[in-house]
Amino acid sequence: MNHFEYRDGILHAEDVAISAIAEAVGTPFYVYSTATLERHYRVFADAFSQEGLDALVCYAVKANSNLSVIRTLAQLGAGADVVSEGELRRALAAGVPPEKIVFSGVGKTVSELEFALNAGILEINVESLPELEMLSDTAQRLGREAHVAIRVNPDVDAKTHEKIATGKKENKFGIDIEYAGQIYARAANLPGIKPVSIAVHIGSQLTSLDPYRAAFAKLAETVETLQKQGIGIERLDLGGGLGIPYDASDSEPPLPSDYAKVVRESVGHLNLPIMLEPGRLIVGNSGLLVTEVILEKVGETRRFVIVDAAMNDLIRPSLYDGHHEIMPVREPAENAQKSAADVVGPVCESGDTFAKNRQLPPLDHGDLVAFGSAGAYGAVMASTYNTRLLVPEVLVKGDQFAVIRPRQTYEELLALDHMAEWLD
Ligand SMILES: *Cc1c(COP(=O)(O)O)cnc(C)c1O
Repeated sequence: MNHFEYRDGILHAEDVAISAIAEAVGTPFYVYSTATLERHYRVFADAFSQEGLDALVCYAVKANSNLSVIRTLAQLGAGADVVSEGELRRALAAGVPPEKIVFSGVGKTVSELEFALNAGILEINVESLPELEMLSDTAQRLGREAHVAIRVNPDVDAKTHEKIATGKKENKFGIDIEYAGQIYARAANLPGIKPVSIAVHIGSQLTSLDPYRAAFAKLAETVETLQKQGIGIERLDLGGGLGIPYDASDSEPPLPSDYAKVVRESVGHLNLPIMLEPGRLIVGNSGLLVTEVILEKVGETRRFVIVDAAMNDLIRPSLYDGHHEIMPVREPAENAQKSAADVVGPVCESGDTFAKNRQLPPLDHGDLVAFGSAGAYGAVMASTYNTRLLVPEVLVKGDQFAVIRPRQTYEELLALDHMAEWLD
């Protein structure tokens, strides 16, 4: 469910016409809907309370790290899952209390660990023995105690795109689950380290609950073994990754309520508080990327719609073969003649293609089109490739909208470079 729909023939975000935003900020731009963000968060969080589970939802900031987005969720009670010092700073700046922040990631630097320890966050998820030792040294040096989870790798196939599967042995993430006993024993003996939790995250855009069931069952078994060893685990971090519908013609991914049921069935008997780290599920369908048609180029064999957004603004199609629905902002007439088109950006790479062979009505210079499901892994992955400006982000709430990141200017972009002194 989202709050983007046609009203009087114009696509709206809640009560605001997309065309009105385009007039105010130019194109391309990202637009997010507060009502949709809030709805997704509530549906997810409520699913766990309905199963009688004590759950903290730590929003995975990397999916969309705009401060206004984080604050919108923090005001509903969300914590944050961060994967860098930068994201930790964003979460704190947006008002997420440190005691609701978890720091994940396979390669945290010493200075990032220092920053996290000084901020007094809930837990640091450790992914290797060398990292555990590094954290112990750092905590001792600062006179602090690090509350840690060990992220285990359950060797489960998440059945998702290979670039976002993280739970198989051959992936770089986590510690092989068979070694959990050894590493917790080591953690318990390291100064400055307090093992409190165990974490798992098997991948992103999962469209089946089976991999979760398998991973959580292994996790529960491991916790029981650890308890027999006398290692107390106070909490479980079950990661994120639940998928969203991108393609209207696809089958729907599992509902949060069914996911919560799997959680209760597989780990409920441990009676431990849990943490969840959804990213995409909260923000993915809460955002659009809006772009203007520059022109249509019709060749002998193909129809190209060339738009002013490009792979540098939204890289999912070229990086992950991601699918985004394409909606003309002006609702096409019922009887509009559709034909197959490739929708492409201006960047000098053939990979700069948003969609191939998509059935679209005639589109003209100046027409606006919106890419759906662009709220997650969209703006955060943007670059300035081809010296294109970072595009603005707009947040809608009811009949109001706010520019929550202005369009970069050419002056700002060029000022990032410095001329070598010998060239001056
Ligand atoms: C990326 C990530 C998430 C969020 O994944 P989504 O698919 O966006 O829900 C959660 N936890 C960790 C550790 C991650 O790296």
